[in-house]
Amino acid sequence: MRVSSVAGRGLFAKNPIKAGSVIISLRPHSFALASQYLDSHCSACAAAPNSGLLRCTGCRTVWYCNATCQKNDWLLHRLECSALVNWAKSAPSKSLSVPSDAVRCLGRILWQKERKGFDSSWSKEIDALQSHLHSLQPRVVENNTHLAHSLVRYLGLSSPGELSKFGISSAGDLTDLISRFVTNTFALTSPSLTPVGVSVSPLVALFNHSCDPDAVIVFPRSSQNSAEEPRMQVIALKNISPHEEILTSYIDTTLPRSLRQAALQDTYDFICQCKLCHDDKKVDPRESVWCPTSCGGMCPAPSDGKIFQCAKCHTVVPAPESIADALRIGQEALEKASSIQVTNHVKALQLTTNIIPILVSAGLTPSCHPLLALTGLHKTLLLSSFSEDMSQELLDETIRTAAKHCVGLSTLLLDGHPVRAVALAELGKLLAVDEPSPATSLAANVAFPPSGPPRLKAAYETLVRARNEVMIGFGRDNDGGELGRNIRETLVSLEKELGVWTQGIHNALQDLPKPMKMNNKGC
Ligand SMILES: [Zn+2]
Ligand SMILES: [Zn+2]
Ligand SMILES: [Zn+2]
Ligand SMILES: [Zn+2]
Repeated sequence: MRVSSVAGRGLFAKNPIKAGSVIISLRPHSFALASQYLDSHCSACAAAPNSGLLRCTGCRTVWYCNATCQKNDWLLHRLECSALVNWAKSAPSKSLSVPSDAVRCLGRILWQKERKGFDSSWSKEIDALQSHLHSLQPRVVENNTHLAHSLVRYLGLSSPGELSKFGISSAGDLTDLISRFVTNTFALTSPSLTPVGVSVSPLVALFNHSCDPDAVIVFPRSSQNSAEEPRMQVIALKNISPHEEILTSYIDTTLPRSLRQAALQDTYDFICQCKLCHDDKKVDPRESVWCPTSCGGMCPAPSDGKIFQCAKCHTVVPAPESIADALRIGQEALEKASSIQVTNHVKALQLTTNIIPILVSAGLTPSCHPLLALTGLHKTLLLSSFSEDMSQELLDETIRTAAKHCVGLSTLLLDGHPVRAVALAELGKLLAVDEPSPATSLAANVAFPPSGPPRLKAAYETLVRARNEVMIGFGRDNDGGELGRNIRETLVSLEKELGVWTQGIHNALQDLPKPMKMNNKGC
């Protein structure tokens, strides 16, 4: 740890670190599952077994893999259990019968501090969390006040004064704890990056931010012993030299600069000084359109209707108004569709289906915001339609969307970035799904996705690429974690399937009466 000139404390490499190496692996100081995942994930180890979770008979709110996980969590859950019961009793409605993950996580932090003692290193590390907030925005103040009230109620205290047993002596101390909590939490994610809750680690909170990070934070689930899970790991995405600062990203780095800066300012109250935010020369693929001369180059996507220049052939063209319009309506559609994706799936899918072709015809590149985000959302919406009635058409459309999403992500993210690796694995698995009604004509195989054996071959190749990337993003030492293991299993079964197919051709050829000359190009 060193103090850097720009960002205060930071973590630096002592020795050379290779891409795919695990830099830090630890169990977070505290974590809590988001309410909607309480009945599908273990509250002790955060695993998500397909079945067999046991419910706590006291609060009937949290679930565990087995008696061992329940026992591991009991010292803290003992206190949490009755708090949950009391909270539910006074809840105004069923939907509010469980406090938010932030409140439950804060509760666990305070009980743990009380249990371990205020002088323990655990408590001191929590107390050393730094607040990034200098000037609180009204929205943040309101949110923190709300959190403080909920926490006092959850802990079963009748006044803030009773907080002294947790080492909190004033309302100011409580607000301070909450603002430090809010700016230092990390999403607890599944092995395929679905956010399932919140977590706190004072050590990992020391990493400074860059929009072009050299490390990522993941939960690969690689340990044999569930008592060690959930393990938070910081993994190198690039080779890092000694004395270089190790930087992670606090936000979604596929967003264009203006949105990244707004997000950082909003939650962390700083202006990013990273290279990506200060590189004015290059065309940022996050804000780009294809060159109108079809040279294959990218031009900056102008939102102000001015002229722009192609980065490849240097043609200068006045920006058609359609681009600014597309960017604006695309952003509106993205916000709308994201907000209703759970409550009104049909309408959200209609929105993404209608808007994507408009953005594509305006010339936006697959990596351009909001086209990339809309493509990702469209894929998620199509995937969740699978349970109803899966047709060949739906499956093929999902595969095409997943492929476009991969193209956009690979333009922006480093080889091995976990987001990119997960998208590639998803595409590979989609290609491996049994086709409901495979095409029979040869012509169909010229199109994407192909049908029959060529499709299986594409699935295989995509999964091999995904596995190579997962080995970086989820750690080589972890063998890519749970996702890496899962891809390997799919690859083994695809190898068998492809083997049967190759053997079939081999046998057919041997049955021919005369030896036949194979055209190398043709096969
Ligand atoms: Zn468990
Ligand atoms: Zn309980
Ligand atoms: Zn930046
Ligand atoms: Zn050009």
